[in-house]
Amino acid sequence: MNHPSQDDEADAALTFRTRAIHVGNEVDAATGAVVPPIHLASTFRQPGAGQWGEFDYSRSGNPTRSNLQNTLTSLESGVGSLAFASGMAAIHCVTMLLESGDHVVAGCDLYGGAYRLLHKICARSGIDVTLVDMTSADAVAAAIGERTKLVWAETIGNPRLTIPNLAELADIAHHRGVLIGVDNTFGTPALVRPLEHGIDIVMHSATKYLGGHSDCLGGTLSVADQELFDRLYYIQNATGAVLDPLSCFLVSRGLKTLDLRIREQSKTSLQLAQWLQAHPRVSKVLYPGLESHPQHALAKQTLDGGFGAMVTFELDAGLDETAKVCESTKLFHLAVSLGAVESLIEQPATMSHASYDAADRARFGITDGLIRLSVGLESFADLCDDLDRAIASK
Ligand SMILES: *Cc1c(COP(=O)(O)O)cnc(C)c1O
Repeated sequence: MNHPSQDDEADAALTFRTRAIHVGNEVDAATGAVVPPIHLASTFRQPGAGQWGEFDYSRSGNPTRSNLQNTLTSLESGVGSLAFASGMAAIHCVTMLLESGDHVVAGCDLYGGAYRLLHKICARSGIDVTLVDMTSADAVAAAIGERTKLVWAETIGNPRLTIPNLAELADIAHHRGVLIGVDNTFGTPALVRPLEHGIDIVMHSATKYLGGHSDCLGGTLSVADQELFDRLYYIQNATGAVLDPLSCFLVSRGLKTLDLRIREQSKTSLQLAQWLQAHPRVSKVLYPGLESHPQHALAKQTLDGGFGAMVTFELDAGLDETAKVCESTKLFHLAVSLGAVESLIEQPATMSHASYDAADRARFGITDGLIRLSVGLESFADLCDDLDRAIASK
């Protein structure tokens, strides 16, 4: 549940980095512990029959989950947040706002799991989806019809790292009476806060940058409207995919260093992207920080002080040859997921985006030669040597 503190105004005056450490991490009143205890209790003693305290049952509310949600609400400039068992559970909760016959307009540069949820699970409930290029306002406006109830985009698309104009999309959706949500997993609230651009719902896979250490799963939603928060809370409580207290603690701990991590990782990513761009065997680099990126100017406006730590590049090579490069790195682990301190490498066509239909992969530029990097906190020199050796082995 969302528990606005009396100190909300004082908190709002603090900078992002300070709030990430202090909001939701208040000193424990009982012991003075500077790190709040992890509350594992599944149920809470009530003051009387039919009388409810602040907490009653952990699916409905848990103090450790509340702490995480309060930190995130502050970081995303919302009125409330909800923590889920995974990023997919968070997106699923949003889709449960919809009914049979409703239509969704989603980005064509979309996380593979979101593609699968919309096409394979929501379709069973009579909800259909149209994928469009979110960097084209005209394409989005044209795709919205009478039945459209939700627009779903990503602040930095996946795997091609496209950048939509959030304020423009919010205007288009609201003008047509449609709710708009964005997946801010790649962007992080340190670089972009979609609610400040008029977006209704911001979602994270907390498994990635928020947690930041590849050691827990989680998902979150944050919203700027109390009525919408109440509807989402109702669905979450009724369906039950809440985040467990231990994982809440791990995400809370991760958030304390989010700002530092993403800025440092962004810096290394820009260096790697520039180095890749000059590499004779690399045919294309997609990184929002490069001038060659189609939305570079918009990325500069939208992302605050860094361009994120995902780098996608293309080899002029087939599926097998590209796979071989991905298998040849030593520091970059060959793995899906992203956003942690250790660098990862993967081939979207066979890994993160394998759940796309082959025709959609071809249509949306997810080529056989595409490689996606999640750049961690290792040094640029070591990462660069590692990639150089792997690319030479092709
Ligand atoms: C990983 C990811 C998800 C799904 O989150 P899980 O925690 O794996 O369920 C959704 N969106 C993006 C952009 C992701 O990277």
